[in-house]
Amino acid sequence: MAFSLPRHDDTRMPVTDAELQQTQLFKDVQLDRIRPLLAACQKIGLKPGDVLLRPEFSNNCMYLLLNGQVTIHLQTLDSEPLLALTVGECVGEMSVFDGRNPSAYVKAGNDVEVLVIESRILWQLIDASHSVARNLLHILANRLRSGNANLSDSQSRQRETEQVANSDALTGLNNRRWLEEMMVRFKGKALNELQPVSVLMLDVDHFKRFNDTFGHKAGDLVLQMVAQTMRKRLRPSDMVARYGGEEFMVLLPHTALSEAQVVAERLRKGVELCKVDADQGQELPPVTISVGVAPWHPGESLEDMVEAADKALYRAKANGRNRVELRD
Ligand code: GH3
Ligand code: MG
Ligand code: MG
Repeated sequence: MAFSLPRHDDTRMPVTDAELQQTQLFKDVQLDRIRPLLAACQKIGLKPGDVLLRPEFSNNCMYLLLNGQVTIHLQTLDSEPLLALTVGECVGEMSVFDGRNPSAYVKAGNDVEVLVIESRILWQLIDASHSVARNLLHILANRLRSGNANLSDSQSRQRETEQVANSDALTGLNNRRWLEEMMVRFKGKALNELQPVSVLMLDVDHFKRFNDTFGHKAGDLVLQMVAQTMRKRLRPSDMVARYGGEEFMVLLPHTALSEAQVVAERLRKGVELCKVDADQGQELPPVTISVGVAPWHPGESLEDMVEAADKALYRAKANGRNRVELRD
């Protein structure tokens, strides 16, 4: 389906050499050689909001911006503009070359004047002038580059989204989903490379009672403190996650049981010694954690290892809390 342009001024306005020379397409071009072709191009005016190109309609022209500014919109006409084009720039040339519909909406941002170059004329201009052909190559190269830049923008947006999906909003630690993904990655050969491996399961003691006594907000501060203590006392290569409500898990690569026990003890002590201030500056009583430690046994799955650490944690609770217990 073709699309007819809004016309606000049917009288032909002549285009001046000065206007042409400020455009990317006619930069350094000897205009005298191409006068007859230029005479076949029409200059038109657009009012703010007028739509020049739509993805729903085919397009057969390149438009040079002589005055004003147009905006490019990807999803809908009213979506946030991707960018604005100003005097000298052009639109529409891609669909002239590949015969496909425009990839975005283009709309006038203010009073705009454009020079309309029909595809037939554009091809003749290319034949008639090397400079026009060279300028067009520049324009297309820039389009490719900014296309790549947009692509890497969207890749970094995707990374941000993944980061949000993998992290826990309260503590800033990674979450269980992330840790489980990491464990999937460590199956098989990778697991052998991390050997020995151990895991810690940590759980805040009597946390329900703490919340009931001091409030959920104070409880949140405690969880943030525990997370910070862990971050400070672990190596960058250790993988720590908030596993559930008041439960944390740490995967320790290249760590045998004896060393993992030392790490667990260091975390337990660190939390016990930490002071947390409530909102009004009033100091809250210390909280403690219990820890279950399990090394990975060759041949078993990581899930088996986590289950063994869970059992050790259960024993730490049964044996009085605020303590570290090792896998049987
Ligand atoms: P135990 O020593 O056996 O672990 O006892 P506990 O009270 O810590 O264990 P329980 O599982 O009975 O209670 C856990 C509590 O953790 C209950 C829940 O309200 C609290 N909790 C879980 N997530 C959050 C959170 O995000 N913020 C706060 N403030 N509390 C939480
Ligand atoms: Mg718990
Ligand atoms: Mg608990």
